Amino acid sequence: MKKNKYYKLLINLLDDVVSLVYPRTCAACNQVLLNHEILLCMLCEVEIPKTNYHLMPNNPIEKMFWGRFELESAAAYLHFRKQGGVQKIMHKLKYKGKSDVGTVIGERYGREVAKVDRFKNVDVIVPIPLHRDKQKTRGYNQSEMFGIGLSEGMNVPLSVDNFVKITATESQTKKNRSERWKNVRDVFQVNNPELLENKHILLIDDIITTGATIEAAALILLKIKGVKISVLGMAVSGG
Ligand SMILES: [Zn+2]
Repeated sequence: MKKNKYYKLLINLLDDVVSLVYPRTCAACNQVLLNHEILLCMLCEVEIPKTNYHLMPNNPIEKMFWGRFELESAAAYLHFRKQGGVQKIMHKLKYKGKSDVGTVIGERYGREVAKVDRFKNVDVIVPIPLHRDKQKTRGYNQSEMFGIGLSEGMNVPLSVDNFVKITATESQTKKNRSERWKNVRDVFQVNNPELLENKHILLIDDIITTGATIEAAALILLKIKGVKISVLGMAVSGG
């Protein structure tokens, strides 16, 4: 009993020492986090622009996909605004090696989404894949990191090796909608379609902008017998 108590004290002490040397900082504003704060400081936690679209049927993301492919439900956790905290969060996840940002946000959002009826019947989570070379350079796929957290929070399995990207595409950021669409067409492939037959797939991505990537991926996946598609993003830009 006594031993256990000292052990816990020692662990807490080590935690404090580690955070003195490597202070944990807020993913949105870089302030040093207090012990109980996870990912965001208290102020950013209050101010982070959540969409709550998971609670809103016919939300702007669902409307974005109307007439493009058959969609069950769609939502994204945060509003992406240039120069805002969400942009800093996404930048850390994509370019600064902070893969844990994706998993923490995924788990958080997953717990919220799991309570909503229209997302309750999804069978499997499928992230938008990165091309092998790009994933090697970055070290991980940021959408997959989001998926690992979502899978935990929603208690739904994650599939990462079946749906793959076979052609490297150029960066999407400087392209308009029709250029983006041409850029992403025919770049995805399903290795074992039979594993996804009759599944309700939750297709996920980091930032949803024009929806061109999601649309291209959904159109490939919808060729599999009995597939239904819902969509979740970490953030939505302009929606
Ligand atoms: Zn902050």
